[in-house]
Amino acid sequence: MSDTAARPGARERTGPTPGTPTHEHVSMADYWVASNYSPLPVVIAQAEGAWVTDVEGRRYLDALAGYSALNFGHLHPTLVAAVRSQLDRLTLTSRAFHSDRLGPFCRDLATFADKDLVLPMNTGAEAVETAIKTARRWGYEVKGVPDGRARIVAMAGNFHGRTTTIVSFSDDPLARDHYGPYTPGFDLVPFGDIGALEAAITDETVAVLLEPIQGEGGVILPPDGWLRDVRELTRRRNVLMVVDEIQSGLGRTGSSFACDLEDVVPDVYVLGKALGGGIVPVSAVVADRDVLGVFTPGSHGSTFGGNPLAAAVGQAVIRLLVTGEYQERARRLGALLESGLAGLVGQGIDAVRVRGLWAGVDLDPGLMSGREASHRLLERGVLVKETHGSTVRIAPPLVVGDAEIEIIVDALAAILR
Ligand code: PLP
Repeated sequence: MSDTAARPGARERTGPTPGTPTHEHVSMADYWVASNYSPLPVVIAQAEGAWVTDVEGRRYLDALAGYSALNFGHLHPTLVAAVRSQLDRLTLTSRAFHSDRLGPFCRDLATFADKDLVLPMNTGAEAVETAIKTARRWGYEVKGVPDGRARIVAMAGNFHGRTTTIVSFSDDPLARDHYGPYTPGFDLVPFGDIGALEAAITDETVAVLLEPIQGEGGVILPPDGWLRDVRELTRRRNVLMVVDEIQSGLGRTGSSFACDLEDVVPDVYVLGKALGGGIVPVSAVVADRDVLGVFTPGSHGSTFGGNPLAAAVGQAVIRLLVTGEYQERARRLGALLESGLAGLVGQGIDAVRVRGLWAGVDLDPGLMSGREASHRLLERGVLVKETHGSTVRIAPPLVVGDAEIEIIVDALAAILR
């Protein structure tokens, strides 16, 4: 078989060719791939559980877990089996027809979230867009906001994805700049400030959109009680509480949803990442009928949303979660991670924030940047990624054990010395 993908008559192109050594793969990617990321120089070829192997056979502990998409580790046998058996039967119907997988998946996810309805999508950003559409429709059709006037309050420092509407209410210039004209209808208030939130809500406000913990922001925790206050405020002002649990949900924080940590039940859950088991993109909006019931045939959709393969994985993910085993692991190992990291504060680390198996580590900016720390940890066989400036995020798969937590803490201690 030819190794070129050129069509007859296409321009002749030259570029680096692949080989086994890391640098050849890196330069090939640098040549052919748009530069919207700057990956660390590791070329992963294989993975299992919490460990990945590069093209030269070196093993690394994955302490990023696909930004929480790999909560159950790489190639979790139950999830792989669900995908394999589905692959042999049916992969796509589109929503023009029913499949025998969609109903069971949505029933299990709705039951797990204790809500009535699920609207399945694919990526996280699509689910956030769907939640925005849900809130606006609900505002016009249920709350009675004049058409075209709906406003949504979001939080400073948010990260909800990359679509043009979502970056319209980002305050991160890297994500937002030069993508205007921007979608109107959003107000920003400081994360964790209930007074500012209350002041920002008007009669035209239809929703408050928030991450219960700001992951991309650097695992930023709100003040204790803030989520409960938001719940009370949104109820009192007849505004939907829409919670983006795409990164925080499905076990990561030691509970099924980060909202559970404060016994808060939002009106709308926005889910993604781990819902696809790290195998296929699966996202969803989950809410009660009085909210998600605003959609009518043709008013929203997706060719791939809720496809049989996605539904099979999603249902298998929920089955892993209902046992509570992963939440428990995240709690127990998270406590271990927290105490290990706490021991490094003052020794090159300024502060750590930990919830379950999710940590934001602020390095002393005078010592090294988050990027430099990621490079140094890579050299020691631990994969993490900086968020901003001198902060690195640690989020290993929930299948790690005590030994892996020790490896992470020891590696951090070593690069700080
Ligand atoms: N929302 C949150 C909280 C996220 O962390 C992310 C991705 O990091 C998204 C939304 C966007 O998800 P996706 O990259 O699947 O579109």
